[in-house]
Amino acid sequence: MERSQLQPVRGMNDILAEDMPYWQFLERCAREVFDEYGYQEVRVPLVESTELFKRSIGEFTDIVEKEMYTFLDKGGDSLTLRPEATAGLVRAAISNGMLHNQKHRIWTSGPMFRHERPQKGRYRQFHQLDCEAFGYEGPDVDAEMILLSARLWRRLGIARVSLQINSLGTPESRRGYRELLVQHFEAHRNQLDQDSVRRLGGNPMRILDTKNPDMRPVVESAPLMTDHLDAESRAHFDGLQAHLDACGIPFRINPRLVRGLDYYTRTVFEWTTDALGAQDAVCSGGRYDGLVAQLGGEPTPAIGWGLGQERVTALLRESGVTVPGMVPDVYVVLAGDAAERKGLALVEGWRDALPGLRITSHLGGGSFKSQLRRADRSGAALAVIVGDDEVARQRAALKTLRDERPQEQCGWAEVPARISTLLLRQGLQPGEG
Ligand code: ATP
Ligand code: MG
Repeated sequence: MERSQLQPVRGMNDILAEDMPYWQFLERCAREVFDEYGYQEVRVPLVESTELFKRSIGEFTDIVEKEMYTFLDKGGDSLTLRPEATAGLVRAAISNGMLHNQKHRIWTSGPMFRHERPQKGRYRQFHQLDCEAFGYEGPDVDAEMILLSARLWRRLGIARVSLQINSLGTPESRRGYRELLVQHFEAHRNQLDQDSVRRLGGNPMRILDTKNPDMRPVVESAPLMTDHLDAESRAHFDGLQAHLDACGIPFRINPRLVRGLDYYTRTVFEWTTDALGAQDAVCSGGRYDGLVAQLGGEPTPAIGWGLGQERVTALLRESGVTVPGMVPDVYVVLAGDAAERKGLALVEGWRDALPGLRITSHLGGGSFKSQLRRADRSGAALAVIVGDDEVARQRAALKTLRDERPQEQCGWAEVPARISTLLLRQGLQPGEG
């Protein structure tokens, strides 16, 4: 195949070395924050039975209606690449008997797959960080989940995000509201698009989540769930707001926030940004008290959120956050036959003495001049130079690359100590490049 034909699958991206510092910074900060709140990492398969997603996400959703990567495996089973993380995590909790009188706070991360129309911030393979709490009725855990995400924004240095919350009540309290919605949309049937007409019979609340701008008027004039909450859901929602107020987390109540999956009950929330254009949701979640039982587990209240890593790394760039780079601390120049022969073993010894330090060896030979140019371009603070003369005398030259200090020489055994001293003098902690 010609190179021009050899492209990744549409909507699926390579994440290259130059992007990686942003990804690693996000993942490292997230891991720290999850740790600090006592959330434990779990990993579940990328593939589950198609039935699991149909039953959990809901039939009348964009995901199940048109976005799933579904295939028959060689045994004839219908499998689907996971479009989101919650269904698999709930399945895992049930399969592993984790829910009997137990509570869990867990997180996971990895690729998700949805056959959407690719555009900036919307891809067919994308990545999420995701956390879930099983066994907690809230609203304290609802608040904690939001606090955790707010702390993550602070740790990342991201300021341009704001929080919207809403309550969808319980399935029972939604029944009356659903009638009102159906009446409203029936009365304006001529303004509905095809998807919405279909959802009117199946799940009219989905219509509120439409992304079709032509439907804005009919959605905006629809009755509001928040005006029809049952007393307990109202108290739960008030409780969440009180916790957020007490912790100083600003929020806006958006009575039209319904979220794209069927399983939500009571609390739903979304962090959006004004920095990324149309794909503005960076982290979204909600409570799904009915889902575990619906999938055959013991009735267990649950809540979770998912964060879009492509959007958040874009936001890090957009916000001008400087992330630690992958710059070596030391670049070792090995010029001449003897230096090339001896070099790797020599540098291994220095690595043994300096664990954690980033030491890049020059490979493939070349003149002093060209190797030093590479050392400089690598961003390293220090070059250690070994030529054939140095090999003969078992010495090395050390040259700081970011200031004008004169080059110095020392014996091989002293090289690790000199590296440490020179890096410290430049105010560098090893590995901080
Ligand atoms: P949107 O309204 O943007 O379609 P969603 O409601 O479908 O988002 P969720 O299913 O809740 O999103 O997923 C959680 C997060 O994952 C979103 O807030 C977003 O940041 C990210 N996300 C969702 N779909 C995509 C996608 N196709 N490409 C990149 N990121 C995505
Ligand atoms: Mg979506």
